[in-house]
Amino acid sequence: MHPVGCNEKGREVDRNSQRQAAFLRHFGRSVLIVEDSRMFSTALRFRLETELGVSVTHCGDMDSLKAVVEASGERFALAIVDLNLPGSPDCEALDFLVSRSIRPFVFTAFGQPMRDSALAKGALDYVMKDSPSALQQVIVGVDRILASERTKVLLVSPEPGSMALEEALLSRQRFQVQMADGAERALDLLDETRDIDIILLDLDHPGWDGVLLLGEIRRHSTPMSVRVVGISSRGQDTTGARFLKAGGDEFILRPYCHDDFTARMLHLAALHKQFLALNLLASRDYLTDVYNRRYFFEAGQRIVSQAMRRGAQASIAIVDIDHFKRLNDTYGHEVGDAVLKAVSSRLKKRLAGNCLLARLGGEEFGMIFDGLGVADAVARCEILRGELAATPIEADGEPLTITVSIGVAAIEGDEVFDNYLNAADQFLYMAKHAGRNCVFSEFSMQPALAG
Ligand code: GH3
Ligand code: MG
Ligand code: MG
Repeated sequence: MHPVGCNEKGREVDRNSQRQAAFLRHFGRSVLIVEDSRMFSTALRFRLETELGVSVTHCGDMDSLKAVVEASGERFALAIVDLNLPGSPDCEALDFLVSRSIRPFVFTAFGQPMRDSALAKGALDYVMKDSPSALQQVIVGVDRILASERTKVLLVSPEPGSMALEEALLSRQRFQVQMADGAERALDLLDETRDIDIILLDLDHPGWDGVLLLGEIRRHSTPMSVRVVGISSRGQDTTGARFLKAGGDEFILRPYCHDDFTARMLHLAALHKQFLALNLLASRDYLTDVYNRRYFFEAGQRIVSQAMRRGAQASIAIVDIDHFKRLNDTYGHEVGDAVLKAVSSRLKKRLAGNCLLARLGGEEFGMIFDGLGVADAVARCEILRGELAATPIEADGEPLTITVSIGVAAIEGDEVFDNYLNAADQFLYMAKHAGRNCVFSEFSMQPALAG
């Protein structure tokens, strides 16, 4: 049996990593606190800033609320508002926020009748100051709402009209909602956009197999990159169980209580964003902050198979710094590290959005050009190579001239991903052999073969 302290420590680590993830997700966003109690406003500000990473503006009465909103060009993500304030005896602060399109999150001592009226006016949520856990509820609620705004939900049904209620409930919570009528459209969107977080899949129509579609969705996306929620009114059969056993993330039975539907979707969105934030940390190279080898293989395989399905071209390249060992030996490891950072930052700046860049290890970087054939990829690599060679890197107080060799290969045919990388590696080897500071590909071979 584990000692109790060990479990507690584990939970503490979990909590810390969750806080860090929330901090990363919301960093730089702005929240308004409209609250006359110094105790509540201080506690809210502290927790919002330290746990969620948001920046906070505080107003203690109606006049300062008006002044702040009029003066501030800032866009507040939401406002946590107390209903009983100096200058706002009858919910004027709430009405004012709604009129200025600032989303109110009510935090008040008033009870039920006020709750219904505040929600009807468009309040995102309503938490009563009636228990020690109330503050925690606000923090969790704000975290989830901030996550939902950046969460894209795709509603998939053969009859789009049948999901009108879900579309309205999700839009009210500021999810970004998109509709796909039919399986093919949903799969195309998954291939095209890559930024869908949650799919809400209608399981209710004759001749329409949601579980089969779930399998297809999984094939079109990397594991855990999309959460799939099934929704159905068939409570008496095994629809829900089949869906969850086939890999669905959540099942919602119709008819449902609106609050319950919203709470489940917000919960899933928050979990998903937390997963994405942690996954982002795990996919970075610690030294250079570009993607790491693990991510290159994971994302590379997905990019390649999506390009193949679209019938688009793609190419792969390996960049290797020339004589890097000599540089390390001459100037020391720290200068070597500074050069690695400078080279990766230059590569990152010069590469467009359709190129995946990662440090594969040591002084080697991988690139996948999505949508570019070898000739175009070679042209891009030539520019990179030329710029690196022409612009010395400042390190150890002196300019160091760095050159790189690059191997470029086509991504074509139905190969395993390793083979594409091996092909680029072969060309890299030839570039080194040819004297370094050059780009090699199948085109470099043609004059030699012709001759
Ligand atoms: P070539 O032109 O043939 O590529 O020669 P090279 O010296 O660049 O290649 P080699 O593979 O012989 O040496 C790579 C060197 O990179 C050896 C290793 O010490 C160094 N290296 C690997 N990782 C790091 C790192 O994280 N920081 C630093 N400073 N050096 C590293
Ligand atoms: Mg090298
Ligand atoms: Mg090397």
